[in-house]
Amino acid sequence: MEINVLINKVLKYNNNLDEIIMIKKAYYLAEELHKDQTRQSGEAYITHPLAVAIILSEIEADASTIVAGLLHDIVEDTELTIEEITSIFNSYIALLVDGVTKIEKMNFSSKDEEVAGNTRKLLSGITEDVRIILIKLADRLHNMRTLEFKSRDKQKENAIETLEIFVPIAYHLGCYDIKNELEDLSLKYLNPESYYKISEERKKLEKDATEDLLIMLNKIHNILNENSIPNYIKTRIKNIYGIYKNKKEGKTLTEIHDFLSLKVIVDTINDCYLSLGYIHSLYPPIHGKMKDYISSPKTNMYRSLHTTSFGEGEQLVQVQIKTNEMDKVASLGLTAYWQDEDVIMNDELKTRFQFFKSLVEINQSTGDNQEFLEEIKKDILGNNIYIYSPKGDVIQLPHGSTAVDFAYKINDLVGDNIVAAIVNGNYKEPLTLLKNKDIVKILTDELSSGPKKEWISQCKTPLAKRKILSYYDKSVISED
Ligand code: MN
Repeated sequence: MEINVLINKVLKYNNNLDEIIMIKKAYYLAEELHKDQTRQSGEAYITHPLAVAIILSEIEADASTIVAGLLHDIVEDTELTIEEITSIFNSYIALLVDGVTKIEKMNFSSKDEEVAGNTRKLLSGITEDVRIILIKLADRLHNMRTLEFKSRDKQKENAIETLEIFVPIAYHLGCYDIKNELEDLSLKYLNPESYYKISEERKKLEKDATEDLLIMLNKIHNILNENSIPNYIKTRIKNIYGIYKNKKEGKTLTEIHDFLSLKVIVDTINDCYLSLGYIHSLYPPIHGKMKDYISSPKTNMYRSLHTTSFGEGEQLVQVQIKTNEMDKVASLGLTAYWQDEDVIMNDELKTRFQFFKSLVEINQSTGDNQEFLEEIKKDILGNNIYIYSPKGDVIQLPHGSTAVDFAYKINDLVGDNIVAAIVNGNYKEPLTLLKNKDIVKILTDELSSGPKKEWISQCKTPLAKRKILSYYDKSVISED
């Protein structure tokens, strides 16, 4: 790998000569400072920061992020200080390097109060400049790619941490390519037997299905052309970890509805819906598999129409229909939303991405660092379900949440006055368990007797538990 690989990738989306010069300057500085260090693989150390910068260029990160990626291990491993980075480059780049250096020390598994406090500061800091976490993601991805040189224990530890922390972050930032690769690499070290077995099966089924898939691709391409809808179609195969998870649920490869996908890229939202009709006229949809993420985007802003049909053979094929812009957001993630000048998280981005909104909410709602860390792990990094309001707003809740949890997420008044919930059109009791993608309307009554005390143990989120407790505290005081 050489500096030219990086420069050529950056030039694809950035022609600013001053910035290109700055990137080269950072590379040669890093090369010089790391010159006496080697990686465990025996390679020169500079190969690592260079690889990190290349990963960042593939998500079209801005020049400051690339430079900080090249310098990310400098402060930790060499004599150069943050002050010197400020004077050689600028204070923005210094802040990014400083942020990454601090995250280096974070430990999510520790119970230690000081560590929890630092982690809190860091995660809150992420909402200030999300580029720090993008560099950290790229750093982790390259470390996972080169994990074979670590001890067996270290491999397992890193793979678990990657699945628990970095995969959810990559998902929440919408960086699907990074997320998929991190998952596959984690599986490779946690369960090598399954990894290699599925990898072989996947290759074979891909080979068997290719011909049928191309026939389907051409038929769709033609019908859209005949109807004057400009289009471009790509094929996609589910990642190994995704298949592994489906298999654990008892599905065979041919039963996985999105094992094979066609991505149909069109110009406008209108064309998305028109295309869906034409595609269904050729390939009737499987009942219940049609998803409209354009009218109801995922919390990470993923938008697309999904439908599943039998293709030319026996194999199910998922068709994703999206505009160019939607496709860009799905492959670049959050960086697709960056403005040229103002790349720091602005309020609009914070509200667009549920991840940041939740982070800010949890930060405000709890004073205890350990509790903050636990909530972050559960609510944001853990297994979540996504619930739709009738208006199409998406609210993220942990698995096992009830309509009461959902009600308190809306606001205190709705929580305090809930009497029932309409879940997907059906009348349900307040403590009904919610499932991913449920559409939920909360029924309230101002004359209700308030939340029941026993709900505290039955609802899931600390937020709902706390609110019900404080409802009773208040009633006790007012009765006095
Ligand atoms: Mn590193």
